Amino acid sequence: MKKIGYLLLGLVVLLVAAAALIYNTAAGQDAAMQRLAGIVMTRTPEPLEGLRVVVCGSASPLGNDPNRAQACIAVMTPEHFLLFDVGARSPMRIAQAMLPMNRLDGVFLTHFHSDHIAALPDVNLTTWVRGRKASLPVYGPQGIDTVISGFNQAYSLDAQYRTAHHGEVILPPAAGPMRAVEVATDGIAWQDDLLTVTAFSVDHAPINPAVGYRIDYRGRSVVISGDTNASDSLFAAAQNADLLLHDALARPLLDPMIAAAEEAKVPVMPIIMNDVIDYHADSTTLEAAARDAGIQQLALYHLVPAPINPLAMKLFKRGLSPKTIIASDLQTFDFPNNSKEIIIRNP
Ligand SMILES: [Zn+2]
Ligand SMILES: [Zn+2]
Repeated sequence: MKKIGYLLLGLVVLLVAAAALIYNTAAGQDAAMQRLAGIVMTRTPEPLEGLRVVVCGSASPLGNDPNRAQACIAVMTPEHFLLFDVGARSPMRIAQAMLPMNRLDGVFLTHFHSDHIAALPDVNLTTWVRGRKASLPVYGPQGIDTVISGFNQAYSLDAQYRTAHHGEVILPPAAGPMRAVEVATDGIAWQDDLLTVTAFSVDHAPINPAVGYRIDYRGRSVVISGDTNASDSLFAAAQNADLLLHDALARPLLDPMIAAAEEAKVPVMPIIMNDVIDYHADSTTLEAAARDAGIQQLALYHLVPAPINPLAMKLFKRGLSPKTIIASDLQTFDFPNNSKEIIIRNP
């Protein structure tokens, strides 16, 4: 027994010495890096069957949670890849999830608040350098032209620099600027033989227009609310959906923050925080409506404010059924074809 113990100890000492040699010498570092680079540069996303949703951003602007990007939902099938809103930090999640940016079909915007559009230039550039040869279409309600022409103008010099540096074959100038596509607030926004994206108006007053989207693919369906109060138009459009991703505001978490800011006489913030209450859905107003609409799974995202610790998460969940999901970044929902099953994977 004693002999085996000494042998094991010797083995551990040897392994630690070898690791130290690799980590602390130039030759060891180069060899390890070469191996790692080989893995990183050749890794490919797992093959996809059916409809998949990846949360690439679950935060609202309120809460300063470094673990959450702002609003972004990816919808993929073997034939399609669509992004719904691209808030700040979402490109980091898109990269972590290895989403197939070489085949992005388009970006759909629910409205034009900064926390839904901030990462557009990054998404545009990433898809351009991954081989896109035509302009990236960006869909949204009235106002989309203003947003896209503004971004295109701001990034026009950047686009010129990129083409000058890498050449017109790699980065064709015509594919540099994004292309705005205005969608009706109620109706089909995009369609092919297999997949339909339907827009519907929501209640984010005074922001108007603001829309949500329903995605239907081979009998499976996902609804993305964008920013809205609990609204009849959304639940009418979301009938019998497999998944509803809905923005949510938690009063038990927000109210003490407002009270503390008021008491400390923090300038401006109490007013701003009070103003957000009436244009996001109170988290407790959604479950009954979702149940009545026949929605299989309710998941809350665009969390107002983002719950940044376990206590805050408990407050966010107060009054909710355990079945309701508080979405987190990189959470994945799979919807196999010809099934009612939802496979949920947490990061
Ligand atoms: Zn928002
Ligand atoms: Zn908004």
